[in-house]
Amino acid sequence: MSMNETEIESSAEHRSIDRPRLIHLIGDLIKELRLGENDGLTDTPRRIADMYLELFSGVDQDPEELLKVQFNEEHDELVILKEIPFYSMCEHHFLPFHGQAHVGYLPDGAIVGLSKLARAVEVFAKRPQVQERLTGQIADSIENALSARGVGVVIEAEHLCMTARGVRKPGARMVTSALRGRLRDDVNSRQEFLRLIGSA
Ligand code: ZN
Repeated sequence: MSMNETEIESSAEHRSIDRPRLIHLIGDLIKELRLGENDGLTDTPRRIADMYLELFSGVDQDPEELLKVQFNEEHDELVILKEIPFYSMCEHHFLPFHGQAHVGYLPDGAIVGLSKLARAVEVFAKRPQVQERLTGQIADSIENALSARGVGVVIEAEHLCMTARGVRKPGARMVTSALRGRLRDDVNSRQEFLRLIGSA
């Protein structure tokens, strides 16, 4: 779901971002890094500016709006969407962390289209994030929007700020979970959720 140039420009406008100024500032940053003369860098400030606009495009979107499109359904057992791929940006280094999110809920009369769950993950991911907060925000938005009886979110991700620099431990993955309602309080429901996502 990558954005084209027109979408990036309109997103910048929508958020009152001065795109030419942003490109200029990134140009200054590159100059100060003293990387030497390199024609390949000529268009890099524009590319980086547009990349940030795209990677942070979730900042002014409200996932609960997406989750408001619901269907009435008597189904009252677990609904799970697992292995949702996502890319997010760590707010400490502006480096990506990426992996998979597993999202489940216990409906209370209302369900949402599965694609909406994936979109909600994407909107929260396209913000400056820490994995712990990302996990909790996804869980809270589903709990609020659906009045679900229980919500479970588990995220496994590799953080480039840890694998490509710093302690350099490629392949190390961080796992976080956020459990709400019956998926937190009821042992059987929790175990069923963890078993179904392949985590127990
Ligand atoms: Zn980081």
